[in-house]
Amino acid sequence: MSNDPRPANPGTSSVSLGHEVEDHLGSLKPPIYETSTFVFETAEEGKRFFEVAYGLAKAREGEEFGYIYSRLDNPNLRVAEARLAAWEGADDALVFNSGMAAINTLFLNYLRPGDLILYSTPAYGGTVKILESLFTELGVATRTFHSDATERDLDALIGDRSLAMVYLETPANPTNDIFDIAMAGSVAHAHGARLVVDNTFLSPVWQRPLDHDADLVVHSATKYLGGHSDITAGVVCGGAEDIDELRHLRYRLGTTASPHTAWMLTRSLETLQIRIERQTASAIRVAAFLNDHSKVASVNHLSLLEADDPKKGIFESQCLGPGAMISFEVAGGEEEAFRFLNAIDVVRLAVSLGGTESLASHPWTMSHATMAPEEKMLLGVTPGLIRLSVGVEDSDDLIEDLEQALGHV
Ligand code: PLP
Repeated sequence: MSNDPRPANPGTSSVSLGHEVEDHLGSLKPPIYETSTFVFETAEEGKRFFEVAYGLAKAREGEEFGYIYSRLDNPNLRVAEARLAAWEGADDALVFNSGMAAINTLFLNYLRPGDLILYSTPAYGGTVKILESLFTELGVATRTFHSDATERDLDALIGDRSLAMVYLETPANPTNDIFDIAMAGSVAHAHGARLVVDNTFLSPVWQRPLDHDADLVVHSATKYLGGHSDITAGVVCGGAEDIDELRHLRYRLGTTASPHTAWMLTRSLETLQIRIERQTASAIRVAAFLNDHSKVASVNHLSLLEADDPKKGIFESQCLGPGAMISFEVAGGEEEAFRFLNAIDVVRLAVSLGGTESLASHPWTMSHATMAPEEKMLLGVTPGLIRLSVGVEDSDDLIEDLEQALGHV
């Protein structure tokens, strides 16, 4: 029998793991520890906590530690992190105050002047922008690749540079392009580099990159993990050594999530699976509806991959479901897309995704506004493209709303 105390199914552990009711006056739910600091029983205890927290000494086998200060750690972070690690099949996890805080902490930990990072494109605009501004100014080289790149193409991009990280966003925002995680892992590991996967779009319910050779998984937990459009948070999951190192950098940078955010995330994880299963079932219906509509030129949803599409094999080997993110191109361009967006009613016009409410946005002028127009066109991020995050509303109501809005195109 395994010594791992976690229930085998993360859907079960996500309502109980990391919270012992007997340690909290029988409180069924974890209380919120809204405190900036923690009282030591003795000065010697405080000294020892600091020695280990600051890496000046190693913890002894079985030695127990209390908390010091909430920028370093807090009981609410620990509950959320235990449940996130269970979902991703990781040793451990860390919660940050936004997805970008998680991504930047990762980049700052692993990228040094002279290093190369290879990253997939399209990708979230904020990730691209920081790599192509601050990190290139600091002397980090960047190269991008598309979803049709082979192992050979990646090797050619690396040449004799010192590869530190391969970074994949799969499925990609906003086109749902999928990238082969195992192939990217084999390239990264042949060069002694890490493979990091942004798993925001599918969540661990539909994709667990660590099972496919990724070293670290990152999320904007603002999206499906938080799930209600009421927090900004980020997550990194991975092996114990990497997470320990990142925990040190997190408290030095101060990118730690607040106790309240961690508590909200813990609450949301309880319903992650049922939310995303319903959202995905609705998205499959909505994608089929859009695909048949005369005012829609094309639809990107993983449920629509054709049997002869090489991406279908990758999808089947690394994804457990198609998710609830759709992008589609209305016939015409920006003007027609805006007419559609100005007419939606049940679906709200806003960026972000993964919440209970359906949201539509215009990547060309919003999330991907800073990307070069030629690059956007090459990747299918066209002026007529709409990104749709399908929520938990009744799918008949959503389809009726999309139908009436398409009438304005
Ligand atoms: N990764 C992806 C795929 C995203 O879509 C986003 C935000 O939209 C981020 C990362 C950044 O996350 P946050 O907005 O929580 O900082």
